Amino acid sequence: MGLRLPGPACPQQSVGVTKVPFLDLRLASEELESELLEATARVVRSGWYVLGAEVERFESDFAGYVGARHCVGVGSGFDALHLALRTMGVGPGDEVIVPANTYIATWLAVSYTGATPIAVEPDPGTYNLDPRRIEDAISSRTKVILPVHLYGQTASMGRICEIARHHGLLVLEDAAQAHGAQWEGRRVGCLGDATAWSFYPSKNLGALGDAGALTTDEDEIAHQIRVLRNYGARTKYENTVKGFNSRLDEIQAAVLTVKLPKLDEWNARRVAVAESYLRQLADVPIVLPEVATGAVPAWHLFVVRCRQRDELRAYLAAEMVETSIHYPVPPYRQGAYRAGGWGGGELKISDAIHQQVLSLPMGPHLSEEQVDMVVAAIRRFLAKLEPVTGESEP
Ligand SMILES: *Cc1c(COP(=O)(O)O)cnc(C)c1O
Repeated sequence: MGLRLPGPACPQQSVGVTKVPFLDLRLASEELESELLEATARVVRSGWYVLGAEVERFESDFAGYVGARHCVGVGSGFDALHLALRTMGVGPGDEVIVPANTYIATWLAVSYTGATPIAVEPDPGTYNLDPRRIEDAISSRTKVILPVHLYGQTASMGRICEIARHHGLLVLEDAAQAHGAQWEGRRVGCLGDATAWSFYPSKNLGALGDAGALTTDEDEIAHQIRVLRNYGARTKYENTVKGFNSRLDEIQAAVLTVKLPKLDEWNARRVAVAESYLRQLADVPIVLPEVATGAVPAWHLFVVRCRQRDELRAYLAAEMVETSIHYPVPPYRQGAYRAGGWGGGELKISDAIHQQVLSLPMGPHLSEEQVDMVVAAIRRFLAKLEPVTGESEP
C-alpha cells in the first residue's frame, strides 16, 4: 500500500524557539554549575594543567565505575580507539572487523593504523554487529573485532568474545555511546580486551570539550597506552617508541569527575524517556528500538525507523520538534572510503537503515511534557498519511 504524505500542519510555526530541542547541553551544565565552576577554578589555581592529580583521580573513579583494573585518559574517543589498536599490534596489512553502520570515527581509527576495516552488516533489529555474520569476515589477516555499542545498545558481547577467543582475536569495544550500559549484569568497560570511550560533550558522560579514555583489565595494554599518549615516553625524555600527543587535560578531567556521580541518575532519566516513547508509540506503524536479551542500554539515542523518514522529520521540524539522523550516510559510501580500502561490496542492510532511521529527542533533561509533545506530533503525522489507491507495496 502506498502512502500519501501530509505537509507540515502549520509551517509558519517553525519561526521561533524550538519547543523540543534534540539535546540541550546547557541544562546539564546548569544543574551542576557551582560544582563545575569550583572544579575548573581548582585547576586554574593549581598551576598544573596536563596529566596531573585531576586526571589520576578521574582515571581511578572511572575505572571503579566500569569495574576495570585500568583507565587511561586520552584526548578524544578517536584517539582511544586508534591508540588501543596500536597497542594490540594492529598495523599495515592487518584487518579489523567493524560494523558497517557506525560513526565514521570507528573506521578511521582502523585506517590510521594502516590496517583495513572489514565491514560486517548489523542485526536489523538491534542495529549492532550481527555475530552470525562475523566468522565469514574473518581472514588470516584479522587481528581485532571492534564492536560498537551503537545508540547505547550493548552489542552481543557473549557471542562476540566467544568468536574472538575461538579465532585468537582481540576485542576492542567502541563505547563512545554506552556509558553505563550493561551486558548480562556487567557494565560495559571490561567485557572485551579493551574499551574505548569518548567524552565528547553530547555523550552520556560528556566533558566541556574533547576528551576520551581507554579502560582495560590488561596491564600491558594500559601501560602501552600511557606511553603512546605521551610521545612514547616511558619516563620523561626517554622515548622508547614513536608516540603521539593525546593527553587528557586537567580541566576536562576535573569536569568529568564532577559529572561521573550523576551518570546513573541521568541514565535513569533517559530510561524513563525511552520507556515513555516505547509505551506511547507501541501501536503506531514505525519501528521502535529493540533491546537485545542480556543488554541494559544507556539510551544515548532513541532511534526509530520509518519509510517516510524525511517527510516525518520535516513535519516534526515544522511542529518545532528537533530530530537528528545517526547517520545519514554509511562510512563506506563516504568520500573517504568510496575509492575502496574497506574490503567489500554493497552493504544493503546498512543502506536501508541509513535511509530510514530517525533519532528522536533524548536526554536526561527532556521533560515528560516534551516527550508527550513528540509523541503527539508523530501521531498527527501518521494519522494524516492517506492510503493511495491502486499502488502496491514495493
Ligand atoms: C563520538 C563517537 C566517536 C568519537 O569520539 P570523539 O571523542 O569525538 O573522537 C567514536 N565512535 C562513536 C560510535 C562515537 O559516537
